[in-house]
Amino acid sequence: MPSSAPQGDVGSSLNQVISHILHRNESLDTLPTVPSSSSIESTLSSLPTSLFEKGVGTSETTSYLIDKVLPGILQAQNGPRYYGFVTGGVTPAAQLADILSTSYDENVQVNLHQQTASTAIEQRTLELILDLLDIKRSVFMGRTITTGATASNTLGLACARDHLLAQSPHLPKGYSWARDGPPTSPTLPSPPIVILSLHPHFSISKAASLVGLGGGPKVIQTVLSDPEDELSFDLEKLEERLKVEKEVGRGVIVCYGLGEVNTGGFGRNLDKVAELSREYGAWLHVDGAFGGFAGLMPELSEYTKHMDKADSLTLDGHKWLNVPYDCGLFYTRYTSSLTNIFQPPSASAPAYLASNFTATPGLPESSDLPEGTVSAADVPSPLFVNIENSRRFRALPLLASLLSLGKEGYRDIVTRNILFARSVAQWISESKSYELLNPSPSYLSSSGAIIPSNIVLFRATGDSPFPPSDPSASVKLTKAINDSRRMYVSATSWRGNGAVRMAVSDYLTEEGRDLGIVLEVLEQVGKGEEVVRAN
Ligand SMILES: *Cc1c(COP(=O)(O)O)cnc(C)c1O
Repeated sequence: MPSSAPQGDVGSSLNQVISHILHRNESLDTLPTVPSSSSIESTLSSLPTSLFEKGVGTSETTSYLIDKVLPGILQAQNGPRYYGFVTGGVTPAAQLADILSTSYDENVQVNLHQQTASTAIEQRTLELILDLLDIKRSVFMGRTITTGATASNTLGLACARDHLLAQSPHLPKGYSWARDGPPTSPTLPSPPIVILSLHPHFSISKAASLVGLGGGPKVIQTVLSDPEDELSFDLEKLEERLKVEKEVGRGVIVCYGLGEVNTGGFGRNLDKVAELSREYGAWLHVDGAFGGFAGLMPELSEYTKHMDKADSLTLDGHKWLNVPYDCGLFYTRYTSSLTNIFQPPSASAPAYLASNFTATPGLPESSDLPEGTVSAADVPSPLFVNIENSRRFRALPLLASLLSLGKEGYRDIVTRNILFARSVAQWISESKSYELLNPSPSYLSSSGAIIPSNIVLFRATGDSPFPPSDPSASVKLTKAINDSRRMYVSATSWRGNGAVRMAVSDYLTEEGRDLGIVLEVLEQVGKGEEVVRAN
């Protein structure tokens, strides 16, 4: 080591980190979900107020992080009773691979297949995810690993935007917003593109504003639900709209949320929506961030199986697949829709970014690989199909997790999580203190009911200390539950009223151990009793 590098004894610090991780992994089921407020305060007061001139070295820094900094952050977000947002945990294989990924620190940006297998590994990982979902590899030849579903939704809307404008009757054939800027033809309808959706995730609005479509209600229109089934498109109304928009030559993106975030529910007509979209030239974007995996439980597969009819598809790795942040997946039928946006004309791409793989053919591939498998030489350089240039080797933890669990392991996680959510829902539906808002365990037979998958949505009744007459009841209820520090839920709103949602997505959640704790906390809070708290 050069003497100027403040390395200290890296080996002993590494051991310290490993033993901290080991100890924490072993106690995830008993750790409090969130730190105490005094822990947060002492972490904050330990932070340096300005950067010192001389560093303290690796060993002192590592001890400081473990002793002073980490106690002030979430203690068990990847533990079995953290049900806020949809967070998932980290499978052991993914955790180890993520550490390895960090230690190699490879930049997976350009396909340099004669120097590294990393882009081919990323590509194969994207193919294995399609295998997990029983989607033919050849359906989605445009694929990339992103930072999450928000980035994937952004890619989807960007691809849709250019694909739709290239066919606009008001613009020169092949018009590209990416290349030519916002279109200005006087005959072009305003807005030139609308997004028709039901309960879209908030990130759709961010994505639409980022790619220049506009993220407000003039562009994102959410008016089309079936009167009998609030999570399904009204097909007649959808067809009417598609007809009108086609007549005026406006582009339409149909955005189908596969897994509504408050209820975990699904629409029932993705196949029909896909048919109509195709017929009228609309682009179908499916946001299946977490819900795309629900069909791994066979009885829910009918709600997800038509994902392969999408023009673009968003999935998350860091939610239900239980790999570390950050990891999202993006798929499209049209590789060119990505490269049109992210691969600048060769004249302006700096020469050092061009890969030199034309000189020799790629590695031989065995001929029995499924159709749609991309060989190492043919993988597009990630920087030409994605937002980032420099990129983390995110595929490694995802690959490791897929290898360690196989399809069966993932089916087991999804099924256990859904069954756990159903057990909680059942208890809530029988409790005097609570009302279940995404109803009934017999949902599979009742046509209009929400299909709740892994989320339990509820509020307190007038028989609890959090009556619906109090407009802040759900926020107070959420705080009372979370103050136990034995479990964690999110406050939300549903049908205009406050509600609490509990999303089960961690591979560690176990009915035998965790259900009793969850029901005890809910019971104590709902009756206004003294709540047992984690230390
Ligand atoms: C979580 C989620 C998103 C946003 O995903 P990030 O990975 O947090 O960027 C988008 N859509 C849906 C349906 C989600 O559940």
